[in-house]
Amino acid sequence: MFSRITITNSTENYSQQIEQIREKLNNADAVVIGAGAGLSTAAGLTYSGERFYKHFSDFAEKYGIIDMYSGGFYPFPDNETFWAWWSRHIYFNRYEKAPKPVYDDLLKLVKDRNYFVLTTNVDHQFQMAGFDKERLFYTQGDYGLFQCSVPCHDKNYDNYDAVIAMIEQQKDMKIPTELVPHCPVCGKPMTMNLRSDDKFVEDEGWHKAAERYNSFIDENKDKNIVYLELGVGGNTPVIIKFPFWQLTAQNENAAYICVNLGESYCPDEIADQSICVNADIGKVINDLN
Ligand SMILES: [Zn+2]
Repeated sequence: MFSRITITNSTENYSQQIEQIREKLNNADAVVIGAGAGLSTAAGLTYSGERFYKHFSDFAEKYGIIDMYSGGFYPFPDNETFWAWWSRHIYFNRYEKAPKPVYDDLLKLVKDRNYFVLTTNVDHQFQMAGFDKERLFYTQGDYGLFQCSVPCHDKNYDNYDAVIAMIEQQKDMKIPTELVPHCPVCGKPMTMNLRSDDKFVEDEGWHKAAERYNSFIDENKDKNIVYLELGVGGNTPVIIKFPFWQLTAQNENAAYICVNLGESYCPDEIADQSICVNADIGKVINDLN
């Protein structure tokens, strides 16, 4: 559908772009935020460096793990060690608020507008910042939920109490065996509700959120609508980026705004309707406010 993807070099026009975005938002009947990993990185939820060593220095030393991302794939020797790692990962990336107020600033920007959020992030930062949960669709799951690893049934379980117990009772990178979570129906191990393969459980809450998102798009897609894409990388473009491009191309009153440090671009076909900002998301949102 799209012939060429334009790489927009735009640093010299930054303040002009901010003005244009502000005008688009002020004239919009609806704003759809599409948020990827880059938004949480901008908010300080980094998976490497100081933040990693602060919480995982023992795992770094014993297993040679260098960041939280790669550690998630490490073949740990037993379930007790696996959950010692994952309970910390879940706690620090899901139950703690991001260190920088980027999500709070984003809420300030949209809270009095007709908005909806589509995100691949699983870290709950939109809810923690106070976004209306009826206006959020988490397509890829939530670190705060467990599901059966089989899965034998389509239900997700809040994992806060289980994670806190694992954090508090782990010793030497192992949790007590009795805390290893098992499915209440079939007894097989539980796992995180994350879309990494075809075993992802889409429960009733997921389907309701999908319906609300689709209704929002149906109601607004032919109006003055702004698709505001924040920190969406090239790994899973079919969830946010490609649909935003297509919806923009189908409506001449639609605008596509892509904010991404180092990866801000759009196809030629919608270049006239697009603003691609190559800058830090936190700075952009702050400047818009
Ligand atoms: Zn089960």
